[in-house]
Parts: sequence; C-alpha cells; structure tokens
Amino acid sequence: MAEAGREFSGSLDLAGLARLAPLLASRQGALTVSLLLDRDEAGTRYLAGRVAGQLQLECQRCLGAMEFALDSDFRLGLVRSEEEAARLPPGYEPLLVGTDPMSLADIVEDEVLLALPIVALHREPHPCAAQQHQEPPPEGEQRENPFAVLAQLKRDK
Ligand SMILES: [Zn+2]
Repeated sequence: MAEAGREFSGSLDLAGLARLAPLLASRQGALTVSLLLDRDEAGTRYLAGRVAGQLQLECQRCLGAMEFALDSDFRLGLVRSEEEAARLPPGYEPLLVGTDPMSLADIVEDEVLLALPIVALHREPHPCAAQQHQEPPPEGEQRENPFAVLAQLKRDK
C-alpha cells in the first residue's frame, strides 16, 4: 500500500485495545487516528501517523483515575530485515514487515503504549489521594506505605 500512497483516518475504541485496556481506569472513549502510508523522495516506504485522545490512566500511588492527554506523532520506516533497519535515514523508527498481514490497530496500539508515562502518577496541580493522607514517616524509622498493601490487593484481583 505504501507504493500507492494511502491515507487512513478514523477512531479506535479503547475497549478494543487489549494491551492498553488493563492500564486504564476507564475504557470508555476512543482514540483519533490518522495514518499515511507512502514513500519519501529517497524511496523509503513509511507509515506516518498521529494518535490522540483523552485517557484515564490509573495513578500508581493512589490507584485513582488520572487524566492523560495523549497526542503522539510517529514515523516508521517499513523494513524487511535488521540490515534494512540499520540503513533507515534519521527520523524513522523501523517497523519490521513480514509476509503476514499486519493490523494497523496493533501498530497504533504499540505507539500509544510507547507514549505513555512509564509510571503514571498524579502530579501538581492534580491532587493525589495517597499524598493527601500520607504523613511523613517518623525520623529514623522506615514505615511501609499503608497504600502499598492496598495496591497489592487490587492488583491480585
Ligand atoms: Zn494519585
């Protein structure tokens, strides 16, 4: 398709993204996606795109919902081997293309996962429930965060 130059745009339901969904406090809503498959002047086949949307991540400190405005651009050079990947011009991330058909939704989901914070935590000015109730530990004594136990229980469910 990159030979012909194709553009796609649409939306992806959050509930349908199996790898992203467990990270979300709410699976309602959708991401806006636009994609372009084309070749540049040097003949490099690429997939460029943008994915945006409002996500409700789970704060890893208080486990409450945390708004995250996703807006990510990407530019992937389509390659068939590691050698081709090494020859990609600057500005491209390699996307290894095999003989099997690839799902554009999977590729977009990969990009979304890369764009998320490594650890989602409430930050100023957004209040974190865990921070509000947390007292500073007494000096010289290491106290365990009471919410750590709660976090463990929730994860085990
Ligand atoms: Zn929090």
